[in-house]
Amino acid sequence: MRSPYSSTCSISETFVSLQGEGAWAGWPCYFIRLSGCNLRCTYCDTRYAYTGREEKDITGLIEEWRQSRIDLIEVTGGEPLFQPGTLTLLRALLDEGAKVLLETNGSLPLSDVPREVIKIVDRKTPGSGMEKFWLEENLRWLNQGDQLKFVITDQEDYEWAREEVLRLCLWRYTEVLFSPVWKSLAPSDLAGWIVADRLPVRFQIQLHKVLWGDKRGI
Ligand code: SF4
Repeated sequence: MRSPYSSTCSISETFVSLQGEGAWAGWPCYFIRLSGCNLRCTYCDTRYAYTGREEKDITGLIEEWRQSRIDLIEVTGGEPLFQPGTLTLLRALLDEGAKVLLETNGSLPLSDVPREVIKIVDRKTPGSGMEKFWLEENLRWLNQGDQLKFVITDQEDYEWAREEVLRLCLWRYTEVLFSPVWKSLAPSDLAGWIVADRLPVRFQIQLHKVLWGDKRGI
């Protein structure tokens, strides 16, 4: 029987893949990519999601997800919180028994995101061109189990991010991830700097791109 969710969301794509990032990397995952974003990062790899694709009702989205037979689901974008229907979608997915990840760019308030949602929050760096849009008050909505992610473009960006981690003692809020921009910064360089500085952050690489390259729907 269909559940009565009347809200809609503008969807760029849905697909099944391996989760490529963070604590859930390597697990099969169902992705819902919402369209629209309030930022324009220099290295954005999902520009195709800036404009709307298809308006879908949440009931239909849930039915599509159920057919995937995968419990882990990531709501991503674009910027998911740029749409008013996203909070309803997150709540509905939780109510339907999904383990829900939310990937968000850190510029929009997290205050209304259900606590059970695992949040992967960007801390945009100068290399993204978008660092001034960071909402520092969002730190108070992070829980252990969430993640704060710095995507690093070069050494200058790394040094800025390192100082930000130390200035705010970010590891006290949640796990901090440092990830190199794909094909821009050598992963081994970033890993070496983290080790040399004994920085309390977790290196990560985009596993899906290592496996399949920089393609859509993976
Ligand atoms: S926040 Fe994400 S989707 Fe938006 S421009 Fe930056 S990288 Fe692209």
